[in-house]
Amino acid sequence: MKLLFYCFVIFVPQLTAQIPVKLDFGKKSSSIIPVYNGDQNYIAANDIVDLLDAGFYENKAKKKIVLSIPGHQIKVTGNNPFVVVDEKDILQMPVDCQYIDGIIFLPIRFFVPILNAYLTAPVLVDDHKFIMPLSEAGLSKIEAFEDTEKGRVNLTAITFDKKSNGLLIKLKTEKRFRKDDVEVWRNKNWLYVTISDGLSSDDVARDIKLSEQFKLIKSALIFQHKNSVQLSFQLNYDIPGQEIVVDDKSGDVFVSIRVSNSAHLDVDPLKKPNLNIQKDQWKIDKIVLDAGHGGWDNGASGKNKTREKDMTLAIVLKLGKLIEQRLGLKVEYTRDTDTYITLHGRTKFANSRNAKLFVSVHCNSNVKRKANGFETFFLSPSRTDEALAVARKENEVIELEKDNHKYGDFTDEKFILSNIMQSVFVKESEELADYIQKGLDKQLSLTNRGVSQAPFYVLMGASMPAVLVETAFISNVNEEKFLKSEDGQKKLAEGIYDGIKNFIQDYEKSQKK
Ligand SMILES: [Zn+2]
Repeated sequence: MKLLFYCFVIFVPQLTAQIPVKLDFGKKSSSIIPVYNGDQNYIAANDIVDLLDAGFYENKAKKKIVLSIPGHQIKVTGNNPFVVVDEKDILQMPVDCQYIDGIIFLPIRFFVPILNAYLTAPVLVDDHKFIMPLSEAGLSKIEAFEDTEKGRVNLTAITFDKKSNGLLIKLKTEKRFRKDDVEVWRNKNWLYVTISDGLSSDDVARDIKLSEQFKLIKSALIFQHKNSVQLSFQLNYDIPGQEIVVDDKSGDVFVSIRVSNSAHLDVDPLKKPNLNIQKDQWKIDKIVLDAGHGGWDNGASGKNKTREKDMTLAIVLKLGKLIEQRLGLKVEYTRDTDTYITLHGRTKFANSRNAKLFVSVHCNSNVKRKANGFETFFLSPSRTDEALAVARKENEVIELEKDNHKYGDFTDEKFILSNIMQSVFVKESEELADYIQKGLDKQLSLTNRGVSQAPFYVLMGASMPAVLVETAFISNVNEEKFLKSEDGQKKLAEGIYDGIKNFIQDYEKSQKK
């Protein structure tokens, strides 16, 4: 009932006081007064047909129009959000096409980008003040925005940051946007980011400098709409995923784009890709092993005075040998002696050594002496209370570090930023954790506590898949004994090794596809 009411009252076409939308397609151009329903501009499907010189077929009874453009058939239906292309691609727009007096109206903001994915040259839309088309070569043509006369510019800069298997796009804002304000969606080789109430300027367009152009991005467009700003990135390669994170404090918006091949992030557009180099870049050829704690930081201790820092080092050294001997991979240790290294220094080391995996080894402990078993974590801000408790314990050392201001708390920007960097590897990290947990399960007769997500500082900022293994409970007398025994350490090393090996095999198989 509420819905009906909405349709009748709000959707009154306003044909007056609307600014014409200018659409360009190749050499053709048309100015159309759009139909505006309070939050969207719509144009008649027939106007698009005219602009494109497209063939079309109309079924009035079914409220359908099929546009024929070279190589594709695009079907839209009145009062329906779906666009069906070639009878196989079904794309859902966030709003319905409208049907008024026998005419189908298309939401410009959502339909044109879909259309563009199937056209060899894009339709450029200019509804009053927006458009910043980047030429395919990169940047030779930036058309300045008209001055924004309405409100304050709140999207002030865009920067691109290359990560080892993804691209982080940071949208600097002057307004606290909430996650609900931001929409990201993908269609074919276009990635769209829409920010409600976003207001941009031509300065932002200039931010996208040629020096920051990555092979991944073929072109970028900024569309300033009346109530939103839309960034459209045309991609040269298929991407496995993307994610939006909004920093609650500053309102800055981060778009992290995963790539399937790091070569897609090469900057020099003239450089021809060297297939051998690409392959090598993706080979998991180096692993950094991190023995938890060390030096003045003993970690947890058992009833019989066994210290976590000694157990983790013993296990890690055994594990490293297995990896080097059996897999022939390079292993580097954050520490191979009883020394203290900051949590921050550990991932920093792994990043600087260009490691492809990071595995941190720890022993669990709990005031409940009965607590037992092994578990593996990967980094995530979302977590269960139990996982959070483990993370808190392992993070405690920060309080004692001299320059602990570096870390901030779980919710600050630094954490969010690091987490985004890590989010590029979340899938791989989870898989690695999963394999390690399986490997340990085969070796051990201890309780399998499963894989969890938690915000461990030691995993933050790692530019690679990263996990933390809690091998067993040092606070449990039986497991303390197990951890201390040569046999126990061997089994733990074998289990983790088995997980790493299986992960690599699987990973490399998927890379070949
Ligand atoms: Zn620990």
